[in-house]
Amino acid sequence: MAFSSHPIVVGNWKMNGLQASLDQVLAVREACATGAAGRCEVALCVPATLIAQAASLLAGSRLMIGGQDCHAAALGAHTGDISAEMLKDAGAKLVIVGHSERRANHGETDAIVNEKAQAAARAGLTPIICVGETRAERDAGETLRVIGRQIDDSVPRGSNPEATIIAYEPVWAIGTGLTPTEKDVAEVHAFIHRRLATLVPTGGKDMRILYGGSVKASNAAALLAIDHVDGALVGGASLKAADFLGITGVY
Ligand code: PGA
Repeated sequence: MAFSSHPIVVGNWKMNGLQASLDQVLAVREACATGAAGRCEVALCVPATLIAQAASLLAGSRLMIGGQDCHAAALGAHTGDISAEMLKDAGAKLVIVGHSERRANHGETDAIVNEKAQAAARAGLTPIICVGETRAERDAGETLRVIGRQIDDSVPRGSNPEATIIAYEPVWAIGTGLTPTEKDVAEVHAFIHRRLATLVPTGGKDMRILYGGSVKASNAAALLAIDHVDGALVGGASLKAADFLGITGVY
């Protein structure tokens, strides 16, 4: 058990956040400036409606703003969609792709997620590629098989390990208060690092892997100290700056 040498904690606000929520961005920015946010990289993936404003508040800050999804194309007749280039233009530095809520609610396959990850890289954004098994898959002993397939098919061959992040988020741990055992997290993260090394010969083992699913201040220290865990993707506990900083401050 040892903290990652290059950790990042990313908040995922999902479909939450109005103008008034920019106060939370400002509070995290302040904590990044004073050192209260810990020594990790810090990012908030806010709703698309807030990206430009949030990014404009962060000039000179180490806090980064990200998007939560992007279309594979750069532009065109895709009503309601947002391209990676648009996110970049609005000031985003990263984008989540293949979150289990997108996979489940929008039918996103590994192939689609792969295209979105390529689009992010094309636009100069760091994709955060999400993978994770369902409860039924875990109970059936299928976890590593499912994760292996998701990694093989969702992560573009030859991805830049410095500018690509993986998030392991067991579907059954998202928003439920449940987390896998430390042994199970260690097993899956080590497995993903080995798998990435076959996909990205230039350094897949160096690609960062975040744990996500019911991370909060009270369990962050234990989860973030697990080998092969390079940070966290945080949903509910990222909405309030004080809760989020209780996680980033672990580093
Ligand atoms: P949670 O969500 O922290 O609320 O469980 C994590 C996520 O879905 O990214």
